[in-house]
Amino acid sequence: MAERGKQTVRDLRRGSRSTLLQRLYFEGPLSRQELGQISGLSAGSVSNVVGELLADGLVEECGSVESDGGRPRILLQVPPGRAHLVGVDVGETQVRVALFDLGLTELAASDHPLSDCGHDFDHVVELILTGLAEVLRTTGTDPATVLGVGVGVPGIVEQGEPGTDGQGIVVHSQTVDWDAVPLGRMLRAGTDLPLYVDNGAKTLGQAEMWFGAGRGARHAVVALFGSGVGACVIAEGARFRGATSSAGEWGHTKVHVGGRLCRCGSRGCLEAYVGAEALVERWGRAPEGSSEKAGLAALLAAAEAGEEDAVALLAEAAEYFGAAIADLINLFNPERIVIGGWAGLMLGPRLLPAIRDAATAYALRFPRAQTSIDLGLLGPDAVTVGAATLPLWHFLQSGGELPARMAAAAAAG
Ligand SMILES: [Zn+2]
Repeated sequence: MAERGKQTVRDLRRGSRSTLLQRLYFEGPLSRQELGQISGLSAGSVSNVVGELLADGLVEECGSVESDGGRPRILLQVPPGRAHLVGVDVGETQVRVALFDLGLTELAASDHPLSDCGHDFDHVVELILTGLAEVLRTTGTDPATVLGVGVGVPGIVEQGEPGTDGQGIVVHSQTVDWDAVPLGRMLRAGTDLPLYVDNGAKTLGQAEMWFGAGRGARHAVVALFGSGVGACVIAEGARFRGATSSAGEWGHTKVHVGGRLCRCGSRGCLEAYVGAEALVERWGRAPEGSSEKAGLAALLAAAEAGEEDAVALLAEAAEYFGAAIADLINLFNPERIVIGGWAGLMLGPRLLPAIRDAATAYALRFPRAQTSIDLGLLGPDAVTVGAATLPLWHFLQSGGELPARMAAAAAAG
């Protein structure tokens, strides 16, 4: 029983650290008084925990504000330079690795187009490890200051047993032909850094919810519109995962029974009609040998110039997309729908009014009236930012737990 009591005290302390660290991270700079008011912790607890966080270097003083008639209040914040994060986007056409400070300011990035090897997983792992070494080298960053590497992948991610250091992470992706790829074990062979892997649409969703167009919403869907189409469903403020993490495979919902062949092998999927790859293929007039992005940009330019087939194709895409959003509205009753991903941001300014109209035409009136539909705010590289939020989330939830090497360096320094 004594052991259990001790555990509980430690858990409580960790919980308080986590609460204050999160408040300071997302809402800082804040004074101790403000922290007490918004966290519900007593002044004594706030003072103790802040003292610990200051001693650990996880919080710093950053000026003061006058208070009514009393002493000036000292402001506190999480120092952005205290640690680093790495985010990796294994996209449809390239692997992007970016190094961020703790405030998620990008310090360096490395882009490697996927060559003829496509999504051959040995090749992808090699590109991730090469990119990781590059961003650390070009910025002169000590790997011991990196909290972890988050990786967003185009597939369903099985997390494996907790505490296995990422070794159990397995990825399933029918669209890129990954059948139970042991990504965790393969990456572990090339780096000692803590590893976190999740579906790219889910990492994008987390980034938009924390820092972008989803901020403040409790019920939302963040749609990833790129080569393929995916979604991150946020219910009660948390990402909805389903039994084995595959919830949100919206791109493979059916819009046409017996319709176009999809990359997943099935027919009539949303992605087979509105994914960037499908749009460029259906248009069929992109310049020979151009990339998918260049092809989609050419399609958009043709529509802007009034070419009839391009105008018609994009109008039809907006209707499919809006109808599919109506399904999300009817199924999940979100207060907000955010459209992100490079293709969504490229086509969004032209298509958004038609997408909204189609959603209105196809959704039930009552839930549609409660839902706003907007574009993401974090740009086309939001998956990389989202991937970096995976180690960041672990750090905040754990109350500022540092990887062993970093903790040892802090104790010695
Ligand atoms: Zn499909």
